[in-house]
Amino acid sequence: MKKIAILGSTGSIGTQALDIIAHNPQEYQVAVVSGFSNMTLLSKQINQFNPEAAVVSDEATALRFKKEYPKTEFLIGSLGLVQAATYADCNLVLNALVGMIGLEPTYAAAKIGKDIALANKETLVSGGSLIMKTISENGGKLIPVDSEHSAISQCLAGNDNKAIKRLILTASGGPFRGKKIEGLKNVSVDQALKHPKWKMGKKISIDSATLMNKGLEVIEAHWLFDMPPEQIEVLVHPESIIHSMVEFIDHSILAQLGAADMRGPINYAFSHPIRRENDLVGLDFTKISALNFEKPDLETFRCLQYAYDTLKLGGSYMIVLNAANEELVGFFLNNKIPFLDIQQKIQIILETHNPVYELTMETILSIDQETREKVRQLCY
Ligand code: NAD
Ligand code: MG
Repeated sequence: MKKIAILGSTGSIGTQALDIIAHNPQEYQVAVVSGFSNMTLLSKQINQFNPEAAVVSDEATALRFKKEYPKTEFLIGSLGLVQAATYADCNLVLNALVGMIGLEPTYAAAKIGKDIALANKETLVSGGSLIMKTISENGGKLIPVDSEHSAISQCLAGNDNKAIKRLILTASGGPFRGKKIEGLKNVSVDQALKHPKWKMGKKISIDSATLMNKGLEVIEAHWLFDMPPEQIEVLVHPESIIHSMVEFIDHSILAQLGAADMRGPINYAFSHPIRRENDLVGLDFTKISALNFEKPDLETFRCLQYAYDTLKLGGSYMIVLNAANEELVGFFLNNKIPFLDIQQKIQIILETHNPVYELTMETILSIDQETREKVRQLCY
C-alpha cells in the first residue's frame, strides 16, 4: 500500500490524482490533502478520503475546519506544505502545486530521500541544480508527471542514457498555433485559456499559449534526464497523440502514445516501476487519419527561445525566467497587460539580470523575489 501526500489536491492534477486513487483503494491511501482557495472542494476531499492531515492557507481556516474534522491534523501555509511533503509515514509525495510555492516542499522531501512524483515543473526550472543534487545525495526517486517527461522516462526504461541521440518533446502548439505577432496583439484572456487539447489550471494554460510551457519543459527535461540543450528538441504535433520520443544513437526512435489525459502519466507515476490498469480510453488507430508535425515558430513565440537561451547561459537566468513569467502571467490573467507583454517584458528582465552561479535555497528565493519586484515596477 502506497501512502501518498498530495500537495495541491484541489487543482487540475490534484483532482485527477485523487480519481486514480479512488479507483485503486487497495493500492493507494491518501495521507495528506492540500488546498488554497477552494475550501468547499477540500472539505469534500477530507470527507471522501479521510486523510490524516490537510494543509490550509491560514490559522482561521484551520480552526474552523478542526471543529468539523477533529481527527484530522491541520497544517498551515507554506510551512504546512513543507510538513506535508515530509509527512511521517508517507512513501510518496505528489507535488501538484503551481509555481514557485512548490520549491521548498520538493527540497524538503528530497532532503529526507522521499520519493516525489513531480507535476510542479517550476520547481526544476528554478531549483534544478540544487534539487537534483539533493535527490542524488539522499536516495529518493524523482518521477515525472508532466506527460512529455513521463513519455520520455517510459521510452528510456531499460535503455542506457549514454545511447540517447536526442529527446523530442512534442507540443500541441497551443490555442494560437499558426498566428503571427500581428494576430496576437489583441488576444483576450478567454482566448488564451482555451487550450485545444488539454483542460488544465489557468497558469499552465497561459504558458501553453505563449509556448513558455514547452520552454519550461525543455529545462525540466535537461535536469531530469541530464541532457544538454542541443539534444533536446521541440516538435509541434497538434494531435497530441505522441506524448514525446527518444532517438537513440542507432537512429531508432521510441515514442509513447496515448489519449490526451493526464490520468495516464499520474497513474504511471503512482504505480512506477510497475504498470497498473486504469479506465482510460485506449487509442483506436483506425480513427486517426493523420499525425502532423511542424517546427515551432520561435520568431513569434519568443518564450520558447528564451528558455533555450537561459538554459545555455545557466546559473540564475532560469530563476529569473520562471519568476518573471509567473508574475507576468498573473498580470495578464488580471487584464493588467496585453498578451504580448509577457514575452516582451521577460526579454527586458533577462537582459538586465546580473547572473549568480552559486545557487543555494536562500539565493534562489531572493533572486525570485527581486525579479518579481522588477516586474511589478515595469508593469505599474
Ligand atoms: P491548478 O491551478 O489547477 O492547481 C494548483 C494547485 O496548487 C491547487 O490545489 C491550489 O490550491 C494550489 N496552490 C496554488 N497556489 C498556492 C499557494 N500559494 N499555496 C498553497 N497552494 C497553492 O494547477 P494545475 O494545472 O493542476 O498544475 C499544477 C502543476 O502541474 C503546475 O506546475 C503545472 O505546470 C503542472 N502540470 C499540469 C498539467 C495539467 O494538465 N493541469 C499538466 C502537466 C503539468
Ligand atoms: Mg507537459
